[in-house]
Amino acid sequence: NTGRVLSIQSHTVQGYVGNKSAVFPLQLLGYDVDPINSVQFSNHTGYPTFKGQVLNGQQLLDLVEGLEANNLLYYTHLLTGYIGSVSFLKSVLEVVDKLRSINPNLTYVCDPVMGDEGKLYVPEDLVSVYREKVVPVASMLTPNQFEAELLTKLRIGSETDGRKACNILHAAGPSKVVITSINIDGNLLLIGSHQKDKEQAPEQFKIVIPRIPAYFTGTGDLMTALLLGWSNKYPDNLDKAAELAVSSLQALLQRTLNDYTSAGFDSKSSSLEIRLIQSQDDIRQPKLTFK
Ligand code: ADP
Ligand code: MG
Ligand code: MG
Repeated sequence: NTGRVLSIQSHTVQGYVGNKSAVFPLQLLGYDVDPINSVQFSNHTGYPTFKGQVLNGQQLLDLVEGLEANNLLYYTHLLTGYIGSVSFLKSVLEVVDKLRSINPNLTYVCDPVMGDEGKLYVPEDLVSVYREKVVPVASMLTPNQFEAELLTKLRIGSETDGRKACNILHAAGPSKVVITSINIDGNLLLIGSHQKDKEQAPEQFKIVIPRIPAYFTGTGDLMTALLLGWSNKYPDNLDKAAELAVSSLQALLQRTLNDYTSAGFDSKSSSLEIRLIQSQDDIRQPKLTFK
């Protein structure tokens, strides 16, 4: 089971975040992926400096208009990640409507990238647009703990809180929700929730992931891409899709850590560029190591 994915994310010349992190794995899983680069930067913004260009909302709509004029706007999936301004996010909402007018079954996978570990890294006025306008039209949502808190206004400190947050998000729109990590004493807890039927309680599950003591960039973007890829192949088994995604990702993070360590790098001092290309076998055929 494959599809055609329109992926609106950032692009970095060097390194792996945004589309650089998401496009290759989706292609490995057999998807046609059409990337729109919301920014083009020399490198990710965690480095001391970066240079580049930012696409504005009108320029996004221009690209979509070009596709539409040639009848090229049929997609099975829309994928969005980091979005830096309200005006761009509003244009994305127009794109969602447009794509759904052409394919009413479009799956919109939204990673509501807003911040991490209590820190917001987008303008504050984006939060309410995500909460009120974007969440309601998303099919699948993949917030981290902090983002789930911002969207639900619920403080998440436990597994139970995570499950409650998923219920609140389902009520607002998406039938699939994955909180990709909740930090609980040294471990990362992933909570998945699939509401198959509006009348019934969602099916929920958790995966415990030992926290690796290093900071990686681009992992959230990769995670959401893998969740899209696998949940489309197992549409009724979000738990299986999440196990596959986590297994791939953890194999990749271990490889990344090993490569840096054996090169004599202090993996705690800076963020690590993921070994995406070197992990292609783990992406194509993950060994199921997480349940
Ligand atoms: P985001 O990057 O959006 O904050 P997360 O922090 O939840 O997203 O990371 C996404 C996924 O990447 C997690 O579900 C986990 O599998 C993996 N991951 C990220 N950082 C680590 C880490 N330090 N140790 C182990 N797994 C990690
Ligand atoms: Mg995180
Ligand atoms: Mg994220």
